[in-house]
Amino acid sequence: MKHLELAERLSRISEPQTIKMAKLSRELKAQGIDIVDLSIGEPDFDTPAHIREAAKKAIDEGFTHYTPVAGIADLRAAVVKKLQRDNNLEYLPEQIVVSTGAKQSIANAVLSVINPGDEVIIPTPYWVTYSELVKLCQGKVVFVPCGIENKFKITPAQLKAAITPKTKLFMFSSPCNPTGSVYSKEELKALADVFAKHPGIYVLADEIYEYINYVGKHESIAQFEGMKDRTIIINGLSKGFAMTGWRLGYLAAPPAVAKAAENIQSQFTSATCSITQKAAVAALNGPKDSADEMLAEFTKRRAFVFEQMSQMPGLKLINPDGAFYMFPDVSSFFGKSYDGEVVNNADDLCMYLLHKANVTFVTGSAFQQPNAIRISYAASMEKLQEGMKRLKAGLEKLA
Ligand code: PMP
Repeated sequence: MKHLELAERLSRISEPQTIKMAKLSRELKAQGIDIVDLSIGEPDFDTPAHIREAAKKAIDEGFTHYTPVAGIADLRAAVVKKLQRDNNLEYLPEQIVVSTGAKQSIANAVLSVINPGDEVIIPTPYWVTYSELVKLCQGKVVFVPCGIENKFKITPAQLKAAITPKTKLFMFSSPCNPTGSVYSKEELKALADVFAKHPGIYVLADEIYEYINYVGKHESIAQFEGMKDRTIIINGLSKGFAMTGWRLGYLAAPPAVAKAAENIQSQFTSATCSITQKAAVAALNGPKDSADEMLAEFTKRRAFVFEQMSQMPGLKLINPDGAFYMFPDVSSFFGKSYDGEVVNNADDLCMYLLHKANVTFVTGSAFQQPNAIRISYAASMEKLQEGMKRLKAGLEKLA
């Protein structure tokens, strides 16, 4: 007798811990419990007014129909202009594919290049979605653990050692989620030098946090000789323009990859929302003041959170150069307990802090770094003050 069964591929992927934590936190809030949620990776700012206006205009003018799969012409042109202006990179509009978020762009890219058995190198800690997409495509994930001593960044020697004849793709983010680390121009050049000896490897450079950089100008690995022909740049509007809910991402890639991504997307979602695309044109072509204001605010919050956590005994942390996360090592608390409840790992610590201190973080195990937890400071100063107070009190109770 035949039973109803789900597809085998589901057994290969898991629900992101980031989303799980946010869900748990919402459930407790719904029960009336006051939770400070520092688990979410999204700016708490409103989308700037001129972008909202462009969307309203699109609705009023009836710009509410299907668009070309890869995006409307003025948006692809705006992305080309942005890459030229901000990154000094020359692309043609047909190399740009707009999607419903950087996440879909990454999915488009992985589906476009990975065959079963292909190896994909991912330095860890890393953003969870990368490996899950590779597994969906039956690729083989090759994790390269990167420690706090090199600010969680992969070295050229580590990269070289991880490459095999089966390596097809290298995936990384800079600025990085979850660590906040930023690769310098020199560091990227050194990695590009390794790739130069291996022409069959694509590089997926996730640059979604480009504008949230505290140490200077963003650098793209695509700028080095030969790299543009193999690099798939991922970017979007979620973080830099506070537009997470609008769903707008894009990739810039070699023509064959862009064409493949467009084909794949045409079967999944067609194009992203027409109204969002008009808003995105306004965002990319418009003033950058609001992005600068957000960065100024993140700079203050980062200083506050870093100062607070530096004073909490047992936390080992570095002050990250980008994004809006702190990623302290919490292993000194493992083995401690409260009320008979032992904290054995970062998962336990996050659950303990959620239930006993009513503050949420994401366990580092979600990012392949079991000794850390991730704190998002994309929250108001009031929330951060309360969150830090609760964290400190929670940690002090462990003995
Ligand atoms: N890449 C990284 C590293 C991220 O942190 C996120 C969002 N958490 C994304 C991609 C996805 O962004 P989007 O909202 O554009 O899908």
